[in-house]
Amino acid sequence: MNIPSPTHPQQIWVIDDDETALMLAQMVLSEAGFEVRTFANAPSALLAAPAGFPAIMVVDLIMPQMDGFAFCKRLRALPGGAEVPVLVTTSLDDPASIDRAYCAGATGFATKPLNWAIEVHRLHYMLRAAEVARELRLKERETRSAKEDWERTFDAIPDVVTVLDSDLRILRANAAAGQQLGLAPDALIGRRCYEMFRKQAQPCANCPALKSLQTGQPASAELPCDSKGGVFAVSTSPVTDAQGQVTHLVYVARDLTEQKLLEAEYRQAQKMEAIGTLAGGIAHDFNNLLTIILGCGELLKDEEERAGRNRDEFKTIIDAAKRGASLSRQLMTFSRKEACKSQVQVLDLNHVIRDVWKMLERIVPKSVTLAAKLSDQLHRINADSGQLEQVLLNLAVNAAHAMPTGGTLTLETRNTELDADFCRYHPELKAGPHVCLRISDTGHGMDRRTQERIYEPFFTTKKVGAGTGLGLSVVFGIVKDHGGHIQCHSEENVGTTFEIYLPITAADLVATPPASPPLGATPKGSGTIMIVDDEAPIRNMLQRFLVRQGYSVFAAADGEIALDRYRNPATRPELVILDLGMPVMSGWECLERLRQIDPQARVLIASGYGGDDLEDRIFQKGALGFINKPYDLGEMSRKVRSIFTGQPQELSAA
Ligand code: ADP
Ligand code: MG
Repeated sequence: MNIPSPTHPQQIWVIDDDETALMLAQMVLSEAGFEVRTFANAPSALLAAPAGFPAIMVVDLIMPQMDGFAFCKRLRALPGGAEVPVLVTTSLDDPASIDRAYCAGATGFATKPLNWAIEVHRLHYMLRAAEVARELRLKERETRSAKEDWERTFDAIPDVVTVLDSDLRILRANAAAGQQLGLAPDALIGRRCYEMFRKQAQPCANCPALKSLQTGQPASAELPCDSKGGVFAVSTSPVTDAQGQVTHLVYVARDLTEQKLLEAEYRQAQKMEAIGTLAGGIAHDFNNLLTIILGCGELLKDEEERAGRNRDEFKTIIDAAKRGASLSRQLMTFSRKEACKSQVQVLDLNHVIRDVWKMLERIVPKSVTLAAKLSDQLHRINADSGQLEQVLLNLAVNAAHAMPTGGTLTLETRNTELDADFCRYHPELKAGPHVCLRISDTGHGMDRRTQERIYEPFFTTKKVGAGTGLGLSVVFGIVKDHGGHIQCHSEENVGTTFEIYLPITAADLVATPPASPPLGATPKGSGTIMIVDDEAPIRNMLQRFLVRQGYSVFAAADGEIALDRYRNPATRPELVILDLGMPVMSGWECLERLRQIDPQARVLIASGYGGDDLEDRIFQKGALGFINKPYDLGEMSRKVRSIFTGQPQELSAA
């Protein structure tokens, strides 16, 4: 807002009830260069005021209607009326009247009869004084607004900004600095920065402010903020006087806590992804080897038994291979390349806990108290109950191990709403309603280094034979597979809590019980089968087995050979058993081209790779069934037979 200047800068108003006085003033003041306007009474001058003020006024004090005192008061109350200098003229010359006139708002006082030569002089002086006052007010207002502008700018910076003297005392602090400590910024003034932000009696060893003071150069460092926790990037820039001496420092601290957390989360995710790929790859190759070992072992055992010899070694081989298969299955779960499609259904997590309770009671020793706090109105989730049981058991086993001398294992469930903020740190999650499963123990806990590695496969702190290091890897894989998130809080000698967040299901889904595969004796059959697999030992073993089952079997080492054979009506088999992961031509491509040659081609896929949608994709591509490696020969026989007898409901179950 501007300081108002007179609307009529040349004008002077003279207000007096004495006509002669008015005429005299008119004459003298016109002569002196003023543009004179006269008023015979105060109200008429007040009426003229809204149209614009003159540069100055001369007002008689004693007037009928409204006297000079009242006029001054009314004038000062008008918008813009405070600025006009007013010379009061009167025959009253007692100090009380003079005081009263000034109190009412007069700027000058002159006693009648007037010596106009002096009064003209006085009027010019009053005008100059009014002008100087106006300029001063203008300057003051500019300074105030510049200061406010600067403070607003300073406070708009989201980083902590302070100005420090050479003693590291805070001279100024912005709003963010105050917020950081939960104080008004003024409360920081005069305090030392390290006392306030780091709660230390000394500056830290790598204090950038000290460095800047010594070198006269900007400096920076990452410092922990002990008053709040977290990490700050602090930079200091020296401010110098005209002589180049450092007079103070600008200290800027940016909160890196969130960024660091995100980076750590990202690194952890990358690590798990890399380990997952590695483990998945190993498990896949491992599966092929186990398929060979298991199959050949069974064949040899069978042959020996037929020949009337009973050799325990074969059973040992087969058992070891089965144990290996279980290991590789766990690795696959971790790397989320689960061979078999999980049996997802709509379920209540509380039911899963109740179902597994008996088993938990058996797992945890008597010295451990089992407690449950299950929410009544728990939302339902889309999950595989078998896999969730596995999660509960693995976590409970670990908790029991952590409490060798007893303690409490508590299982809790609750509904929770994950907000966007939380999900920012865990990109695999979507904000919204989730179910939270909390498993806490009062065991020995873990140090930070252990916590960083717990989900890695084969990471264990237990004695050889006591742990495989796969428990939490499997839990991790299952939780990820369910679109969820697992987190762990642990404190040494206090205990450990795992929290698992699982997204709730859309309400309209209906529970479907898992289909259970029919079991029976190994069925025998007849027909022609082509085995397509790049691994010769698998081809040979399966061929021997299927021949023994009564089929005519031949094998192809890659997709090209298989297609050649299929094109030839003389060698076209009734069923193709096809591996997916092959060099030269992938199983997928081979399947597609087989179906191009013969849309009725019957194909059974055998693969170590799985994943949720694999079976669906296989059926979409026209295959009749899927069996995952390493397979049990009995299962293979049943699948093959059901294809020949046309009972597709037996095919999808792994
Ligand atoms: P394992 O139990 O075979 O060692 P896990 O993957 O289940 O493998 O666990 C990995 C490691 O995590 C354990 O060896 C142990 O150091 C740590 N751990 C897991 N759960 C807990 C727990 N509840 N309390 C303390 N440490 C635990
Ligand atoms: Mg374990």
